[in-house]
Amino acid sequence: MNPGDPLKLIRFDSGRIGVVRGDQVHDVSDAVGAGQGAWPPVEMNRLIRDFAVLRPAIERAADQARPVPLSSVRLLTPVPWPNKLMAYPVNYHDHATEMASVGFANVQGYFLKAASSLCGAGDSIVLPNVKGREIHHECELGVVIGKEGRNIAVADALDHIFGYACLMDMTIRGKEERVFRKSYDSFTPVGPWIATADEVGDPRALQMKLWVNDVLRQDANTRDLIVGIAEMIALASTASTLYPGDLIATGTPAGVGPLAAGDRVRIEIERVGTMTLPVEQGSIGNNFVFDRPGAGAK
Ligand code: MN
Repeated sequence: MNPGDPLKLIRFDSGRIGVVRGDQVHDVSDAVGAGQGAWPPVEMNRLIRDFAVLRPAIERAADQARPVPLSSVRLLTPVPWPNKLMAYPVNYHDHATEMASVGFANVQGYFLKAASSLCGAGDSIVLPNVKGREIHHECELGVVIGKEGRNIAVADALDHIFGYACLMDMTIRGKEERVFRKSYDSFTPVGPWIATADEVGDPRALQMKLWVNDVLRQDANTRDLIVGIAEMIALASTASTLYPGDLIATGTPAGVGPLAAGDRVRIEIERVGTMTLPVEQGSIGNNFVFDRPGAGAK
């Protein structure tokens, strides 16, 4: 491993866990008790909780593994069973302006998405067949919590981060319950891996970009967050105990827009990674909530 390379952890294929070095995957499942098809799939949560102890064994196992090309495995979402998938609403001033929003993260706090909306870099975004609605991409930095805590001080909050991932917060625009509009299966792509915090360094100035079909749609820096990363962790923990593997979607900048079947969405976050997902039209998902004509303007 080259000094300064992020330690990149993936889940892949049948739930195996691996380390990515360059374009190669080193399977470390045996060293961390993964890959046995356990349900619920919480092997990554345990790895995160015990990482300080396990890291030498993980790196040794990676050294000894026979690597396979990253392109030959199917990437799964890294933490499929978080205790909480938290998300902050409008958290960049430019996105607040475009949405004419007054509900900033600093006056709203966090909301939840169903964890079953998580998918990985090897999956597709499947659009539900709701009629007359726009389904938007939101480009966000994903934060993976590393250790349990309640009422965490801002000064201590970054110590509670295990790592980072690219995250898209997909949403059906409309006035209905936000949790429902954002919780469809495949509406929270996370990946392609977790880049560990100690290797990413300061998260307060990470450039992030999102393209649809190679057209740049979102381009922002985490320095422009309204509620910063440490403050989001501290704020959430005033209400809720945070657990290893909890995920935070940190909010989107300006440039959100609709996706259509056949699109390819690419997200890239500096020092974290990049992933591209295809967009498919699904045949299910419509219901009487979304069936009311005219209810869905923005
Ligand atoms: Mn969002």
